[in-house]
Amino acid sequence: MSLRMQLWLIVLAPVLLIGGLYAFGLTLPVPHLGRDYVIRLVMPDTNAPVDLPEILGPEDRTRPLVVIDAGHGGRDPGASGGSYVEKRVVLGLALALRDKLVEDGGIRVALTRDDDTFLVLEERPEIARRLDADLFISIHADSSGEVSSVRGASIYTLSEEASSEAAARFADRENSANSLNGVVVDKKNQEVNDILVELSQRRVQENSAEFANLIVREGGGSIRFHPQAKRSAALAVLRAPDVPAVLYESGFITNPADAERLTSEEGRAQFAEAMSRAIRIYFARQADN
Ligand SMILES: [Zn+2]
Repeated sequence: MSLRMQLWLIVLAPVLLIGGLYAFGLTLPVPHLGRDYVIRLVMPDTNAPVDLPEILGPEDRTRPLVVIDAGHGGRDPGASGGSYVEKRVVLGLALALRDKLVEDGGIRVALTRDDDTFLVLEERPEIARRLDADLFISIHADSSGEVSSVRGASIYTLSEEASSEAAARFADRENSANSLNGVVVDKKNQEVNDILVELSQRRVQENSAEFANLIVREGGGSIRFHPQAKRSAALAVLRAPDVPAVLYESGFITNPADAERLTSEEGRAQFAEAMSRAIRIYFARQADN
């Protein structure tokens, strides 16, 4: 074997190994962190738009639209603990919330997935954008590996830095035919444009934070929150620059009490009630502004 061949093998072996594991849906255990990490290979954007989901609720298009995103799905199971698998737990919560919102009326609702479908991460906020949604909620469940005592729900909003980045990228990507929160992105006047994008972005962030506060307030009586319930992070699923968005970590499926609650009819109903109250109050305040 030539030296060149040997070098290529050394370079390619880990890639092939990881690619192979990924292809078979296996994950790499990381012993000290106690969780499994999926190595994700992001395929280049094919520019093929995903089919938009059906919008339920009133026909009236002036009614606010919330897009509910059940995390993971299909060949991406998400976290697991005991017999619980995140993709199933969160779909149950998403469906319960959808049903509650539709039942109480007045709000339009769409789900990024309502079955065991695989969706690329970036498609999820993109669906919210293309539907011109007013609010985006991505529902997840956490795992703490061997430490089963960790429990409680938390709410993530996009970190400020990541939010500015997302806005900048959006402004770069879109041309003058587009607008962000009603701000027409005009390449000719870059400086003014940057300020307007920044301002509108700040408003989206404020709205996301307000919604996160409402979830904590309305869930206070029935949902058990993590001691640090509100966090911010650079999460790709929250990067829809013009749609206020939160990622709701509903609890730890590695904690028996959390897992039980999140998968029981009563627990799902409590979640759906608290969350739908938070959504309604949020929209009512938006309408007042
Ligand atoms: Zn998740």
